Amino acid sequence: MHATLKPPPLRDDCFALPAGVDWTPVDVALDGLRQRLHCVVAEETLALSAALGRILAKDVVAARANPPEPNAAVDGYGFAFAALGAGDQTLPLVEGRAAAGVPLGHPVPYGSAVRILTGAALPEGVDTVILEEDVNASPEAIAFREGVKPYANTRKAGEDKAAGDAILRAGQRLGAADLALAAATGLGALPVFERLRVGVLSTGDELVEPGEAARAGQIYDANRVMLLALLSDMGFAPVDLGRVGDAREALRARLDAAAMEADVILTSGGASNGDEDHVSALLREAGAMQEWRIAVKPGRPLALGMWQGTPVFGLPGNPVAALVCTLVFARPAMGVLAGRGWSAPQGYALPAAFEKRKKAGRREYLRARVREGQVEVFASEGSGRISGLSWAEGLVELPDGAVDVARGDRVRFVPYGSFL
Ligand code: AMP
Ligand code: MG
Repeated sequence: MHATLKPPPLRDDCFALPAGVDWTPVDVALDGLRQRLHCVVAEETLALSAALGRILAKDVVAARANPPEPNAAVDGYGFAFAALGAGDQTLPLVEGRAAAGVPLGHPVPYGSAVRILTGAALPEGVDTVILEEDVNASPEAIAFREGVKPYANTRKAGEDKAAGDAILRAGQRLGAADLALAAATGLGALPVFERLRVGVLSTGDELVEPGEAARAGQIYDANRVMLLALLSDMGFAPVDLGRVGDAREALRARLDAAAMEADVILTSGGASNGDEDHVSALLREAGAMQEWRIAVKPGRPLALGMWQGTPVFGLPGNPVAALVCTLVFARPAMGVLAGRGWSAPQGYALPAAFEKRKKAGRREYLRARVREGQVEVFASEGSGRISGLSWAEGLVELPDGAVDVARGDRVRFVPYGSFL
């Protein structure tokens, strides 16, 4: 398992905003990310058993046909179709049987039949199989009605995939069924990308570790455990960078270390323009920072910058906004860095079980779920309501323009799983 050369680092201006744009529409922001990022991970070869969730680094073709030989699709009796006459049939049975992995070993004479089981290679002289339920059998012969079709109950060699056929595409994330396809077509290992290492850092003097005692004024760090979990669901390698208070030098030291350990860093909190917003201040000082004022709710502020060659997504502290920004912006960007290429989440147009008036000028994401084929949204849009994130099973995306959603109108529902 050797790693090949890594691609070159990203350019410092990879987060530059389009000139003259004040509030960046979501699609423009996404286009910017799509165009300026590239794959930063190296390739390796992994056994199928280790490849689940990995991103394929090269197109892959079948090494062997599936099925490799013509075989029986049912338990029954095999014979040559051309030997059948008109009307009901009686065929003498030959000795032995053909079973999966245990071939008959000799040809079946024209006009005779042989016992055959599901998955058995068709013996020479057999091209058609009749289901055992459709025959009367004695030890010497079988009898059945007319009407059998040629090649019935058989599978052709390579009817699924022939040797050399494309089976998997570079950039796809390997699921259980993909591993089955690779195995069936003769492959034991696959070329994949190393997992993108994503660092997660929480910032804020108010934060304490979940489960520990909290004093008045302190809150539990909810973002870090959420983001680390989300990243492993997405197939990346999460790197826990811990927490730092609102102290510039401590944050600087943490970012310095993180830039060595991670391919991309997600911070939460301290990303806007206030006195204690040290993430944005440091990225600005590093000279490759953009405050993306994206026309999105929830989502502000999002600070993007480069720290010693490592891209940093300065997410909002608010957990709802942090999650939405990660799903909508960081996920596709990380997909590019990880070799997956750009992908937009699959959404579904479903009738709304709610009403909502929305002004023009920004895209909105509502915490939502589907019940009885209709989309429900969480009762409160308050961005501190973490319970709504947990209640929801996805997001409703409302377009940038004004909309007046009435009950029964179709809205775009994107399940959380579509972002993975
Ligand atoms: P900030 O972006 O730092 O101004 O934080 C915005 C809000 O999010 C504040 O109410 C913070 O207390 C809260 N917040 C920041 N980081 C976290 C975190 N890791 N977990 C939960 N809430 C947070
Ligand atoms: Mg803060």
